Amino acid sequence: MASSSPSTAGREAATVDDRSPRRMTWAFDLDGCLVDSLTATSLRPLAQEILERLSAAEHTVVLWSAGGDEHARRVAASHGVSDLVDAFYDKGGRDGWGRWLVEHLDAGHRPDVCVDDRPEETPSGVSVIGVSPYIAPDGHDTGLRPVLEAVRRAVDPRHAA
Ligand SMILES: [Mg+2]
Repeated sequence: MASSSPSTAGREAATVDDRSPRRMTWAFDLDGCLVDSLTATSLRPLAQEILERLSAAEHTVVLWSAGGDEHARRVAASHGVSDLVDAFYDKGGRDGWGRWLVEHLDAGHRPDVCVDDRPEETPSGVSVIGVSPYIAPDGHDTGLRPVLEAVRRAVDPRHAA
């Protein structure tokens, strides 16, 4: 009879500077991060390219929102990027420090990296890329540029500094 061996697989702290081409799970906040928080009618500049690069490299993309999973799904569909997202979730409860919990996410959807305009609220133990709030439609917004750079490094080790 096989005995269960103690798991040594504590999740390694993922860093977006990791040189290995390991596939990671990226959780993107929606409002004020990928779409404007005022109307959700503007997909932020670079958002589509970021999602396309992650999808092409077979990283896992999760979109989550305090407005609920259906809100996230609907907004993604309205911008034509649903196919680039693997799963949609509500932001559920928070821990005692005001950070979002991830227990309601399927195991494969728990993030290694969180991209959020409220980085202080991202779950503990994940890599965080904080972005400036995207408040209103602005074709010249560059807030996602650091995210694109991190994605490039993650999907192509040659971009690692
Ligand atoms: Mg937000």
